Amino acid sequence: MERQKMVEELEKIMGKENVLATETDLLLYGYDASLVKSKPDCIVLPGSTEDVSKVVNFAHQHGIPVIARGSGTNLSGGTVPTRGGIVLHLSRMNRILEIDIENQRAVVEPAVFTLALKTALGRYGYIYQPDPASEKVSTFGGNFGENSGGPHCLKYGVTTNHVVGAEIVLSDGEVINVGGKALDNPGYDLTGVLVGSEGTMGIATKLVLRIMPKPEAIKTMMAIYNSLEDAGRTVSAIISDGIVPATLEILDNNTIKAVEASVKAGYPLDAAAVLLIELDGMKDGMERLAERIMEICKKNNVREVKAAQSEAERAQLWAGRRGAFGAVARLRPNYLVCDGTVPRTKLPEVLRKVMEITKKYNLDVANVFHAGDGNLHPLILFDERNEDELRRVHLAGSEILKACVDAGGTISGEHGIGVEKMKEMCFVFSDRDITAMKKVKRAFDPDDVMNPGKVLPAPEACAPAQPAKH
Ligand SMILES: Cc1cc2nc3c(=O)[nH]c(=O)nc-3n(C[C@H](O)[C@H](O)[C@H](O)COP(=O)(O)OP(=O)(O)OC[C@H]3O[C@@H](n4cnc5c(N)ncnc54)[C@H](O)[C@@H]3O)c2cc1C
Repeated sequence: MERQKMVEELEKIMGKENVLATETDLLLYGYDASLVKSKPDCIVLPGSTEDVSKVVNFAHQHGIPVIARGSGTNLSGGTVPTRGGIVLHLSRMNRILEIDIENQRAVVEPAVFTLALKTALGRYGYIYQPDPASEKVSTFGGNFGENSGGPHCLKYGVTTNHVVGAEIVLSDGEVINVGGKALDNPGYDLTGVLVGSEGTMGIATKLVLRIMPKPEAIKTMMAIYNSLEDAGRTVSAIISDGIVPATLEILDNNTIKAVEASVKAGYPLDAAAVLLIELDGMKDGMERLAERIMEICKKNNVREVKAAQSEAERAQLWAGRRGAFGAVARLRPNYLVCDGTVPRTKLPEVLRKVMEITKKYNLDVANVFHAGDGNLHPLILFDERNEDELRRVHLAGSEILKACVDAGGTISGEHGIGVEKMKEMCFVFSDRDITAMKKVKRAFDPDDVMNPGKVLPAPEACAPAQPAKH
C-alpha cells in the first residue's frame, strides 16, 4: 500500500493525533540501543487493546509489517523497522491495573516501566524481582519481548519465571489470553513460547506478573581484585560452595574508571576488577554466610572486601553498577554490547579470550557483567564514523560469541537476537532447529507481519565469520 494512503487510513481508524508520520518522526523511530537503523512508514500510538487489535488487523489485511515498541532500549535491533511498516508505540498503555497481594500477582499494561511497578509495590513490602539495569525506562512489554534479565536474576530467574499470564493480540488482530494468575495452566505453555519472542509472534497488551515479599535482610559487599580472572574464579567458587547470592556482578578496570568519572560509586581506580556480592533473605545466618564468602574471596586472592554499612552506601555501590553502561558511553562515541553466556567455570578462560580477540582487532573493551549467570557483556568501544573500525567491531563481536559457544555457552544471555545476532544463531542451532522455530513462528504469524526479518536467519545469512586480516 502506498505510504500516504496507509497514513490516511490509519488516521481514520485511530484519529489524526495518534498517527505520526513526519520525516522527524520516522527518523526518531528508526533506531534503538543497537547499531541498526531503518525508518518505518509511520508510527501509531494505541491507547487500548482494542486499538492494538484494530491496527494489527489493518496491517494484516494489507500485508504491512507491525513492530511493537516499548522504550526502544533493546540492544539487538528488535524495534528497528528493517522492512518499513507500522511502529506500534505502546507508551500510552502505561497503567498498573491490579496489585493482588493475597495471590502475589500484579497485572500491568505493557508500557509500565519496570521500576514504576517496584516503586508501587514498595509500600506493600513487595517486589518484582527481575531488574534490568535499564529498569528506570524499560517497559514490561520490552522485558516480555526480550525475556530480560538483571543482577538479581541469578537467584530469582529471568522474566519468563515471573510472567505467569498475558493478554495477546495475534497477527490478525484477534485477542487471546495465555496463562493466568494460577501457577500451572493446562494445555500448551503458550506464555513460555511468547516470552522472549521479540514481538515476532504476538503483542502483549496485559501482563500478569509474579510478585514477592521483600527479603527481610540485605547485605551488599564489594570485593576488590588485582586480577579479573581471580574475580571470575571467585564467582564459581562461591556457587560451588552451595551459596546462591542474590547477585554476583563484575566490573573491570576500564568500567571502574568510567564509573568513577561519572557516578563516583567509590570503586578503587587501581583495581583490575570489583565483584559486587549481594546476599538477601532471612536475617538469621546472613553474617555467617557473609564470613564464608569472605573466606572464599581470600582463597581467590582478593585484595580487600568491603561491606556497605548503610542503605546509602549500598545505593552508592549499585549506582555504579546500574550507571556503568551510561558511564562507558563517555569513553568513545559508540560501543557494541556483546551478550554471550558461558558456564561459570569457564569465565576466566573466556574473559582471557575476549581480551585476546579485542587486542587482535586493535579495539578497546570494557567488561561489566552478570558474572553469577556466566553472562558476559564486553562493551567494544569505537567511533561509527570510522568504517574500518566498525567493520573490526562486528568481526570481534562475532568472534567473542563464537568463543562463548565453543566454551559450552550461547550467543545471548538476555539481550535477544533481533537483527544483530541473526547470523550467530547458526553457531548454536542447526538448520533443522531453525526450521522448527520457523514453523512455530508461522503458526502464530502465517503472513509474516509481526516484526518480520528478526530472530530467525535466512539460510544464506549463516555464512561463517570472516577471519581477521591482521
Ligand atoms: C543502559 C542499558 C542497560 C541495559 N541493561 C539490561 C539488563 O541488565 N538486562 C537486560 O536483560 N537488558 C538490559 N538492557 C536491554 C533492554 O533495556 C531490555 O531488553 C528491555 O527489556 C527492553 O525494554 P524496552 O521497553 O526498551 O523494549 P523495546 O526495546 O521497545 O522492545 C524490545 C523487544 O520487545 C518487543 N516488544 C516490545 N513491546 C512488546 C509487547 N508489548 N509485546 C510483545 N513484544 C514487545 C519489541 O518488538 C522488541 O523486539 C539494557 C539496555 C540499556 C540501554
